Amino acid sequence: MHPALSINGLRKVYANGVEAIKGIDLEVAQRDFFALLGPNGAGKSTTIGIINSLIRKTAGTIDIFGISIDEDFARAKLNIGVMPQEFNFNAFERTMDIVVTQAGYYGIPHSVATERAEHDLKLMGLWEKRHTRAIALSGGMKRRLMIARSIVHRPKLLILDEPTAGVDIDLRRLLWELLRTLNSEGTTIILTTHYLEEAEHLCRNVAIIDHGTIIQNTSIRELLKLLQREVFVMDLISPLVKTEDWSYGDAQIHIVDSNTLKVNTHRDQSLNDIFNHLNENGIQVSSMRPQSNRLEELFLSLTRSDPP
Ligand code: ADP
Repeated sequence: MHPALSINGLRKVYANGVEAIKGIDLEVAQRDFFALLGPNGAGKSTTIGIINSLIRKTAGTIDIFGISIDEDFARAKLNIGVMPQEFNFNAFERTMDIVVTQAGYYGIPHSVATERAEHDLKLMGLWEKRHTRAIALSGGMKRRLMIARSIVHRPKLLILDEPTAGVDIDLRRLLWELLRTLNSEGTTIILTTHYLEEAEHLCRNVAIIDHGTIIQNTSIRELLKLLQREVFVMDLISPLVKTEDWSYGDAQIHIVDSNTLKVNTHRDQSLNDIFNHLNENGIQVSSMRPQSNRLEELFLSLTRSDPP
């Protein structure tokens, strides 16, 4: 079985001399849910642009389900759906027409396109808005419209560039559910993100790209094992009596202010133990959140010269 995506020796040097991609090899299996992680400027969008033939590569080969994009892009493209970061539909067109028109680019007969558009707009919760011009949709609706448009030709490989950038938590959850459904129905999904949490929730495998090279290519599970330490911010029910930072086992407990602690723990240390320790000292926590950015911590451990 061919991989959904196979990239070999990919390089991209922009006209201004920036070497955005410095020789990437990558393989994504069929039906995988794959994350391409990396900080801004790492080369994620360039890679997607090349796969989608919007950006011309300098060197290397790309095959989609065994079809080379150089030899037969028309056929390769039938299998790819891409959702770019920016909204790039005609804002004055109506929601339904945007999806149906897109199907037309793939030679799908109008009657089939109409049926699929109805199905997809319902799936995305946009059916009520089918006659609304895109410009009048909320940001979240526009994002869902982008997805509906990217799947109307039933691509076997769906690539999403930062699908949840700038969306609120409810919409993020909804998009996650939609993507999971598509994947469980057989669509291979690749998404770029700079949220480790997103990759953790959705994806099975991951490549981390940094400065145009792949610095890690593994399963999410293995990747998370590299995260040795985590920092949590804890809000307290009543003001602290303590005035100095302290440590408990492997955890360092830092006083941010009289109502807030920052707890830096080793991943092997149980959070329950820490809560018990705090309770024993008369400290009760009302809420807790991980202090992002965990991805940055991961980068530090990956790029550090000594082993993590
Ligand atoms: P990411 O998507 O990971 O944020 P990009 O692929 O957009 O990264 O960018 C990779 C590198 O290529 C960056 O250094 C960026 O400044 C550069 N770059 C991106 N697009 C262009 C362009 N059109 N011309 C010149 N340099 C570019």
